[in-house]
Amino acid sequence: GPLVGVLALQGDVVDHRRVLGSVGARTRTVRRPEELVGLDGLVIPGGESTVIDRLSRRFGLREPLVAALRAGLPAYGSCAGMIMLADTLVDGLGDQQTFGGLDVTVRRNAFGRQVDSFETDLDLAGLDSPVHAVFIRAPWVERAGASVEVLASAHGHPVAVRQGSLLATSFHPEATGDHRVHGLFVDSL
Ligand code: GLN
Repeated sequence: GPLVGVLALQGDVVDHRRVLGSVGARTRTVRRPEELVGLDGLVIPGGESTVIDRLSRRFGLREPLVAALRAGLPAYGSCAGMIMLADTLVDGLGDQQTFGGLDVTVRRNAFGRQVDSFETDLDLAGLDSPVHAVFIRAPWVERAGASVEVLASAHGHPVAVRQGSLLATSFHPEATGDHRVHGLFVDSL
């Protein structure tokens, strides 16, 4: 199967590796620039985008990772990973930066207090039955460029998007038994 890196600075690394393995990918954790070499794809897990941003800069990973995305490395970002793939961020903390690549504006911690964290079944384009989606202090997509395909929405906002070889979801498919979102990504590699 394809070799998929899992960015392992912080967040749900172990669960993503397990699910990727179950849909036929080989995996490698990525903390250092040389671990980007030879990947067929990259998963950016959920966690805390401010921490992922800070550690990526401290470990010298930010620049090579941005370059790899610009050069066309396919990537899937979940929750904080969606934030990291967005070109533009609303409600980031301080000088928080993203890697970019997706022509979207995302709002961090978008759903607000009453629905801070929730689960729901979502219709997702490309899947033949609803996917169970777990949202944990999740972002939503506030603006999507013309080349961005909206795959699913919740509370009136896109929560799953695709642009070329980049995929992002506001929710955490690694936290459920449903591996079809990872399957969509791995099958595209
Ligand atoms: N709120 C987190 C952030 O800003 C994302 C939460 C998550 O990934 N579950 O990065």
